[in-house]
Amino acid sequence: MNTKMNVNDFHNKLLLIEGDPADAKVIQAALADVRYGPFDVESVRQLSDAYERLGKEGIAAVLVDLFLPDSQGIETFNKLLLAAPHVPILVLSGPGDEDIAMQALQRGAQDYLLKGELTSHSLSRALRNMIERKAVEEALFIEKERAQVTLNSIGDAVLSTDISGNVTYLNHAAESLTGWSREEALRRPVAEVFQIIDGATRQPARNPMELAVQQNKTVGLTANCILIRPDGLECAIEDSAAPIHDRRGQVTGAVIVFHDVTAARAMSFRMSHLAQHDSLTDLPNRLLLNDRLTRAIASARRNGNRLAVLFVDLDRFKDINDSLGHAIGDKLLQSVAERLVARVRNSDTVSRPGGDEFVVLLSELEHPEDAAVCAKKMLTALTAPHRIAQHDVHVTVSIGVSTYPEDGQDAETLVKSADTAMYQAKENGRNNYEFFRQDMNIRAVERQSLEGSLSRALERHEFVLHYQPKINLEKGAITGAEALIRWLHLDRGLIPPAQFVPIAEDTGLLLPIGQWVLHEACRQARAWLDAGLRPVPVAVNISAVEFRDKGFLEGVRAILKDTRLEPRYLELELTESVLMQHAESSASVLQALKTMGVQLAVDDFGTGYSSLSYLRRFPIDTLKVDRSFVRQITADADDAIIASAVISMGKSLKLRVVAEGVETREQLAFLQDQRCDEGQGYYFSRPVVAEQFAKLLGTGISETAIN
Ligand code: C2E
Ligand code: MG
Ligand code: MG
Repeated sequence: MNTKMNVNDFHNKLLLIEGDPADAKVIQAALADVRYGPFDVESVRQLSDAYERLGKEGIAAVLVDLFLPDSQGIETFNKLLLAAPHVPILVLSGPGDEDIAMQALQRGAQDYLLKGELTSHSLSRALRNMIERKAVEEALFIEKERAQVTLNSIGDAVLSTDISGNVTYLNHAAESLTGWSREEALRRPVAEVFQIIDGATRQPARNPMELAVQQNKTVGLTANCILIRPDGLECAIEDSAAPIHDRRGQVTGAVIVFHDVTAARAMSFRMSHLAQHDSLTDLPNRLLLNDRLTRAIASARRNGNRLAVLFVDLDRFKDINDSLGHAIGDKLLQSVAERLVARVRNSDTVSRPGGDEFVVLLSELEHPEDAAVCAKKMLTALTAPHRIAQHDVHVTVSIGVSTYPEDGQDAETLVKSADTAMYQAKENGRNNYEFFRQDMNIRAVERQSLEGSLSRALERHEFVLHYQPKINLEKGAITGAEALIRWLHLDRGLIPPAQFVPIAEDTGLLLPIGQWVLHEACRQARAWLDAGLRPVPVAVNISAVEFRDKGFLEGVRAILKDTRLEPRYLELELTESVLMQHAESSASVLQALKTMGVQLAVDDFGTGYSSLSYLRRFPIDTLKVDRSFVRQITADADDAIIASAVISMGKSLKLRVVAEGVETREQLAFLQDQRCDEGQGYYFSRPVVAEQFAKLLGTGISETAIN
């Protein structure tokens, strides 16, 4: 802004306050000289008249003789200043009153002149200077005021220092961010007012002002900078410092502009936390696990240490989820997460890479046995009931353990090895742990090769059904046949369903295979009927995948039609857990099957999570008591009680009860004693090929078998 102004730009009206009319005349004459003026002079004789005139606008300057009729001495000046604080005042002094004129100067008069020495020239020069100076002052004030308002209204904090690093200015934002008021902060060393540390190391951070002054250029703040306030509060800040120059370009200080990024930084922290953690349990996710594991391996390699990876998988979590609902399933996962975390050290990592799997990294392992101890602790901790929404939920886990350096050199291999070992633990009956062994890899490879050949087994006609008779325990007659699938593998020979049904389930091959089984069993039953054999129903096992399939009902209907088998000669075996998953929709599918005329059996009864009230609502004909109960019969008396309880439970539901896995005469005797309706097992016959079953149907089971 241009602060140099021509006095002619301003109004030049003067107020002369002079008690002596003669003096007034002289002065007016001097001011009338057009060479130096002209000035427009209004003249009054008393201070009281001056007040009145000053109350109106338009006076550029005042000339005053301090000795007036109504006021004398410095008093006059004081009163005048109060009345017109912004109007420049020139004191006219008599020769003996110079000391009073000096006092007035100190109190804010612009200048004074001795009356005796007045000339037109000196008077007008003094007045011009005075008016001009006041105008410049005014302009500066306005500019400063504008800067002030601007600085105070922006959100950024602004703080400036002089060359020696003392605070010269803070705006409002800087006051509230630093916690220092301007008055307190002024002239203090900036390091005191603007105390910053590096958020990562918590070491004092270099003040950017020093750097800006030293390098004479704008510099940024330390990344992750934190400002510490006098009250101890911390706030994350961000921004830059720049040097201030004088007119000659010399650095005279610095200014720093900064703002609060606490919220933004918290948000970005939250985002990166979310990206690396599982939202349900807040445990590290696969990404973070990989990161931690990779670091742990590097450190173990450097220090010659070992570490262990525990792959923890919930047993039959899907059943729990399906029968109790996802909300409870989620709570269970949270509860498992909590218990796992409580069982490891702070330096270990419990992660949830997904689903019902947890991976635990034990980073400081002395002996591999320590991992076994940890796995055992986890097994015990997790099997205690989980109290969730009025339910006592029971769950077991299977754990696979791999160790570095033995079982893998990188994160991926170690986790894979632990996973393989976990599969082995599942196969060994669940609720236990297994250490990884190289031969497990061979099995995993085998599984992979099975997967490959399984996909071609259907078209290559490698499947065959065997049939196992069900026997009426009172009369010994064959009451039905259970169709059991076998895979005649070209190289491996006969493969039992336990080895390939789970693979077929995982790979989606079970649907076409199941269709084949159903069709083949119905075709065979029709063939037996057509051959004039005694009509008995054939039972087909249906897995969850098939039962849940949208096309299931239609498939059954189409196959019955195609093979011309009456529905009453088909029985479908479904396990308890299959039925209990989505019990509501199960009921409607079962009802539709029943309406079709198909018979229904609950397979492996007693091993699942049956709810009797549901079972009662399902239109079921048969309960097949699981082999494990039958096996217990001969073990000891207590176990026998359980078996008989299961049998009588079935009877109380008014269902046909079939005992599975009858192997001995004693078992048979017990079952007969309990009035169990039917039995199935090696004692009567192993599953046999169709021709042999036809013979059995013709000849019957030997009389002696049941007597
Ligand atoms: P499951 O339905 O409970 O079938 C009974 C299993 O017990 C059969 O095993 C049978 O061979 C066996 N078994 C019968 N009597 C005795 C005995 O006295 N002692 C012993 N130890 N075992 C006996 P298998 O054929 O290996 O089938 C195993 C499971 O595979 C079946 O259990 C069934 O769940 C499933 N499965 C078999 N065939 C099919 C099929 O076509 N489709 C589906 N989805 N699953 C099938
Ligand atoms: Mg069965
Ligand atoms: Mg069974």
